[in-house]
Amino acid sequence: MTSTGSPQSITQPDSSADGIAWDLRDLYAGSDDPLIDRDLQTALQRARTFETTYRGKVHVEGGPTPQLLATAMRELESLSEQRDKPLAYASLLHSAQTDDPARGALLSRTHEQATAVNQHLIFFDLEWIQVPDEAARPLIAAPSLSRYSHTLEQKRAWKPHYLSEPEEKIHDEKTITGRAAFVRLFEETTSSIRFPIEHDGRTETLSMQQTLSKLYNPDRAVRKAAAEGLTAGLKENARLLTFIFNNLVLDHQTDCRLRRFPDPMASRHLANEIRPEVVDALMTGAERHTATVQRYYRLKGKLLGLDALYDYDRYAPLFSDMPGCEWETGRRIVQESYEAFSPRAGGIIREFFEKRWIDAEPRPGKRGGAFSSSAVPSVHPYILMNYSGQLRDVMTLAHELGHGLHQYLARPVGYFQCGTPLTTAETASVFGEMLTFRRLLELYPDPRTRLALLCSKIEDGFATVFRQVLLTRFEQSLHKARQERGELTTEQINELWMEANRPMYGDAVRLSDGYGWWWLYIGHFIRSPFYCYAYAFGELLVLALVEKYRQEGAAFVPKYLDLLAAGGSAAPDALLARLGVDVTDPGFWELGLRLLGEMVDQAEELAAKL
Ligand SMILES: [Zn+2]
Repeated sequence: MTSTGSPQSITQPDSSADGIAWDLRDLYAGSDDPLIDRDLQTALQRARTFETTYRGKVHVEGGPTPQLLATAMRELESLSEQRDKPLAYASLLHSAQTDDPARGALLSRTHEQATAVNQHLIFFDLEWIQVPDEAARPLIAAPSLSRYSHTLEQKRAWKPHYLSEPEEKIHDEKTITGRAAFVRLFEETTSSIRFPIEHDGRTETLSMQQTLSKLYNPDRAVRKAAAEGLTAGLKENARLLTFIFNNLVLDHQTDCRLRRFPDPMASRHLANEIRPEVVDALMTGAERHTATVQRYYRLKGKLLGLDALYDYDRYAPLFSDMPGCEWETGRRIVQESYEAFSPRAGGIIREFFEKRWIDAEPRPGKRGGAFSSSAVPSVHPYILMNYSGQLRDVMTLAHELGHGLHQYLARPVGYFQCGTPLTTAETASVFGEMLTFRRLLELYPDPRTRLALLCSKIEDGFATVFRQVLLTRFEQSLHKARQERGELTTEQINELWMEANRPMYGDAVRLSDGYGWWWLYIGHFIRSPFYCYAYAFGELLVLALVEKYRQEGAAFVPKYLDLLAAGGSAAPDALLARLGVDVTDPGFWELGLRLLGEMVDQAEELAAKL
């Protein structure tokens, strides 16, 4: 799929972040850097040697020696990083300009090469999981393997779900033209759609990101036009996008069946290192608080002076004269809020800005949304976002820098253990947002601005807690329906989407007919099935951590930074226990949910005083 519009014809508003583009030269000098191919070739050569050296040496009577396993793990770690570096670079290049065919081609090539490398490595995990428990346990505990102990343990948790080696190889190789290809088709399709926004007698054609950002416009007519344009663009592409959804849901089901997972969420829970009961308690807990959501939207409707609040009013700014925020100011606010929390954290954040690890300018063809990529631990993370100059962009910047800080601090634990499961992946990002939110409250003492900030924080909290729970419920029903009824039509999925939305909004928000189509652009369903509850987990966890910081003050800071630096070197519940947090207690989620409710109380009080 190539881009359908020429970039020059698109209306591209100026942004104060124009020119803020990342410098990827810490990875490679450019897309034609010969080191890319050299790394790919060397990684492949090393993988072949690895296979010849270690095949048949791990699954042996009594298990391997700690020395042999440690040497093998070190080599595996180093060659995996060499394999991933070109891939990380290519995917950053591609996300910065998805409509450039040369970048798409480089991404494919690095992906294919990485898969070729993996073909020689698959045996290793399979041999390791076959080592009997009594031989594996002392190895996991061996001091010489401490850098890998959690990885070694985690690999074994997947034991019941592995296929045979030839099956794993075929599966892995076919993924390139299967799942991965459909994900890319989705990305390229959604970023090439031009949405027709009809307003004031003229039609603008905007990218998805630009269209979504119009839902935050103070003018209701603009929001309504954006909502209608979004629906129109999605409808236009619904056949292809629905096909991609159906196909990827089926692909996931096939995987679950082949790998003997009892339900579609089970593999995600295992990867998240979380027990299903914990997630159930989180989701049902949130669903018990939908009254908080509805109470808030009724307040918002009143503040906006609307008889009925529609879906396209949910993100409306409360006051039309809210201050915007230029890139330089936003940068300073975020910098200062991290600095005030911890000079060490502040110093790391400064590096991101000064060394140009952030790509912030909006550009046609650039991937929408925002992310922080850990790239490879021997280099450093990179951040992509689309800075349009609103206060909420400042929060996004703080969010992604939280990820960046986390990824940066966890680099020393190494390639295998630096990444966290999704459940705790949002800890530092949401915490960083909270720090910046408080800084913003200090900087803007005017009650109207404070109310607006508070409301936007509440809305963010809703987006990360209630909306993500709702998205997960939708995904559950989508997978169930696909399994029971076979391939689904767009209209059938629209209905599932509306059914998942209604309980949360009740009669406080009117959902227009067009809203039924809005599941079509949500990339999480495509990229990582059942990702969404991790956001709710992260947000509620962070609200509890914020409470701890409030109680403990400066004593909390080093413990928190240690938590980040630990990366994924132990299971989340074990890492959090070090901070005195028990996520396995079903009542734990109530704490964060109540805090969200209290924020709505505060907003009601502030509003009453205006
Ligand atoms: Zn995030």
